Amino acid sequence: MSSSLDLRQKLNQLQISIQDENRARKERPSIDFNLESPKMPRQRPALQLNHNGGLSPHARRDKKQVQMPLTCGPINRSTIDGPEIDRKLQEIMKQTGLLTTEGKRYHINVESLESIGELGFGSCGHVIRMRHKESGTILAVKQMRRSGNKEENKRILMDLDVVLKSHNCPFIVQCLGAIVTPSEVWICMEQMATCLDKLIKKLREPVPEQIIGKMVVAIVNALNYLKEKHGVMHRDVKPSNMLLDEKGVVKLCDFGISGRLVDSKARTRSAGCAAYMAPERIDPPDPNNPDYDVRADVWSLGISLVELATGEFPYKNCTNDFEVLARVLSEDPPRLPLKRGFSVDFHSFIQCCLTKDYNKRPKYKQLMEHSFFKRYLVARVDVASWFALVMYKVRTQSSRQDRHTP
Ligand code: ATP
Ligand code: MG
Repeated sequence: MSSSLDLRQKLNQLQISIQDENRARKERPSIDFNLESPKMPRQRPALQLNHNGGLSPHARRDKKQVQMPLTCGPINRSTIDGPEIDRKLQEIMKQTGLLTTEGKRYHINVESLESIGELGFGSCGHVIRMRHKESGTILAVKQMRRSGNKEENKRILMDLDVVLKSHNCPFIVQCLGAIVTPSEVWICMEQMATCLDKLIKKLREPVPEQIIGKMVVAIVNALNYLKEKHGVMHRDVKPSNMLLDEKGVVKLCDFGISGRLVDSKARTRSAGCAAYMAPERIDPPDPNNPDYDVRADVWSLGISLVELATGEFPYKNCTNDFEVLARVLSEDPPRLPLKRGFSVDFHSFIQCCLTKDYNKRPKYKQLMEHSFFKRYLVARVDVASWFALVMYKVRTQSSRQDRHTP
């Protein structure tokens, strides 16, 4: 009884510190690179406790289509959050309005692209399948509203910055160009077939271990690249941010809340998805100094892998996210089920990622030395054929269902 009270107090404390941080951010001058756009009251903390004590990581999914202006508007840089962001913004602005595809460079604006369908909605905008009219290239375009909200602008800028500078990493989704208008930012990405979240929902069964092995190699490489080359951690590692293409290539995406590491530690609490959050982010050992490092992303990776391997979210049957967080703190970490034929290596890899004490949890270098990682680094696994078969099964199942639906 007393321990559940204690837990509730800790979670309430988490809510208070996130509110404090949001307030502090609002007071701090930040990038406001669009003073001309209509100011929309869209303060959207990534982690939000509702009145029932439930957490709403996806505070809202705004599906409204915005009227697009045809030219890029001037960017006001008078309220920049420090010289580093100023420099970043200038670098990014040089690269906007251009699309590079198949070795050719095109000048683009919103009229150069036509919409061919939806790919998905996220908390930061929506992703549309679009065709570049001149070259015929099909793109996945993430469209984000430039509100007057500094936090959101920062998020957009971070996403663009990381994706643009990660052009030489084969495990990170490639950005072919970007368009900045007075009201929106469009990030033109290579189009992938699906994200792993949608895949498991469609599949309705576990992903085989050897396919997961290949996914692990790609995602750990991507996270390690971000840390080593750019000094950032992702902070929102989850299946919906892992993409797969028809060739069986897995890539990481979505860098809006990536955190710059200072002395290898993230200094802000900027939350990702509550469900995948590491215990030390929920309940920091020193609440006055809530820093954490890449090992928090290793935990999120572990949760994602258990979900892929079992086809179920490990903290299922929770009625709200508050309960998920409480279980993360109070329960033993999730494990792969026994007697399902998973290899000893795989069990051990999950156990390493989901080590509750972050001091004992490995970082990427150690994970890359793990026998599970090393095995799949060299193993020949035909992910493309598996994916083609899965898609075929999904299509035949849904056409059978259509035929039986009156
Ligand atoms: P969150 O806002 O919590 O990050 P999310 O990851 O689902 O949620 P987005 O990153 O905006 O939100 O992406 C929405 C969806 O768009 C993804 O789930 C994915 O299925 C799809 N998507 C994103 N990028 C691509 C891409 N390059 N190719 C194909 N589909 C993509
Ligand atoms: Mg995403």
